[in-house]
Amino acid sequence: MPDQLSPAELRALDRAHVWHPYGPMPGRQEPLVVESASGVRLRLAEPVHGRSELVDGMSSWWSAVHGYNHPVLNEAARDQLDRMSHVMFGGLTHEPAVRLAARLVEITPEPLQHVFLADSGSVSVEVAVKMCLQYWRSAGRPAKRRLLTWRGGYHGDTWQPMSVCDPDGGMHELWSGSLPRQIFADAPPDGFDADPDDAYVRHLRELVAAHADELAAVIVEPVVQGAGGMRFHSPAYLRVLREACDANDVLLVFDEIATGFGRTGQLFAAGHAGVSPDVMCVGKALTGGYLTLAATLCTTRVAEGISSGDVPVLAHGPTFMGNPLASAVACASVDLLLGQDWELEVKRIGTGLRQGLAEAAEVPGVRDVRVLGAIGVVQLDHEVDMEAATRAAVREGVWLRPFRDLVYTMPPYVTGDDDVARICRAVCAAAREG
Ligand SMILES: *Cc1c(COP(=O)(O)O)cnc(C)c1O
Repeated sequence: MPDQLSPAELRALDRAHVWHPYGPMPGRQEPLVVESASGVRLRLAEPVHGRSELVDGMSSWWSAVHGYNHPVLNEAARDQLDRMSHVMFGGLTHEPAVRLAARLVEITPEPLQHVFLADSGSVSVEVAVKMCLQYWRSAGRPAKRRLLTWRGGYHGDTWQPMSVCDPDGGMHELWSGSLPRQIFADAPPDGFDADPDDAYVRHLRELVAAHADELAAVIVEPVVQGAGGMRFHSPAYLRVLREACDANDVLLVFDEIATGFGRTGQLFAAGHAGVSPDVMCVGKALTGGYLTLAATLCTTRVAEGISSGDVPVLAHGPTFMGNPLASAVACASVDLLLGQDWELEVKRIGTGLRQGLAEAAEVPGVRDVRVLGAIGVVQLDHEVDMEAATRAAVREGVWLRPFRDLVYTMPPYVTGDDDVARICRAVCAAAREG
């Protein structure tokens, strides 16, 4: 293989050998070749539709909240690289992981006191589920091993997370016969500001109560359902779930992997409801998009319950648990976020999205336009033509990745007003042409 591959050679090898997310083999769509990225811009290896730079409207799937090639995060990575990239976590510990865990305990709701550092969001959900099942097993109630969630959710692509993803219309229908069978409530009614629906509240309460004897936990994405459909709901339903779980001896898990670190306008979306879960997952923006890392936090009650059972340990320990490099960058990313007025930036972007996306409501085929925090969503009344929509966005100089009937954006918090406006033009163009 030559030292330098041309973009065409790269694409040919990619097509022949490399899987992409939710893709066939060989790939059918031509991926764009990114050479480097800095600030909010992706630099392409060759111009596409006249553009050699694209403003990133996706934050690389919620993660790159500070933008790319950030000097503070680069320095944190370099510093840690010079000390050690990795050591095993069994029998050893180190400052980056300890510091990160303590920081996460400090910034999440008070009852969450113990941290399991996992290597990806899906694994952190697996760990959350294992914690809940093991808690009830240790408590002498092994029949409590099912999960309840509401429809329209997304919790990752490994086995337990898939079992609580939306069973219809999602990507996991294929496996419905082989997945653990969980209990599904109806999807929460739309609208962050909508008054809670009495009938729905009753539905949630009744379902939790009816299955209390077999339920280990309720698991939901608080306030924003992400990859399951980019839907927003009233925080009141989270309070209802908290009460129903308490009344029926069921644990409550919040998956904040997408919503965490300010994206919805609160540091964690649970903050909109003022409730704390028993177990909480964070990931995605945890390292500012630099490295893969996630965490599962739990209360002392859950930790002590597990540790006092007949198997008094949490039986999970990935090879790269607590990876120092990822932990060091995560510490720097959290400090960077909290060291600025992130609330103001998220609000500013939200205002820009509201203004810029308003005209999308007039586009034929658009069903709904909604904004919460720094998330903008245009929902179509048809399946988006991904190639046409992507092309329209690239022509505007913006990177978007629409799916299903959705053209959406969650820009890095450092995106300037002009670039937010540009992203909005691209979303509108993609909605028009997709
Ligand atoms: C992305 C996501 C996951 C899965 O995280 P990975 O790091 O992709 O495994 C789980 N839950 C939610 C809510 C997510 O958005």
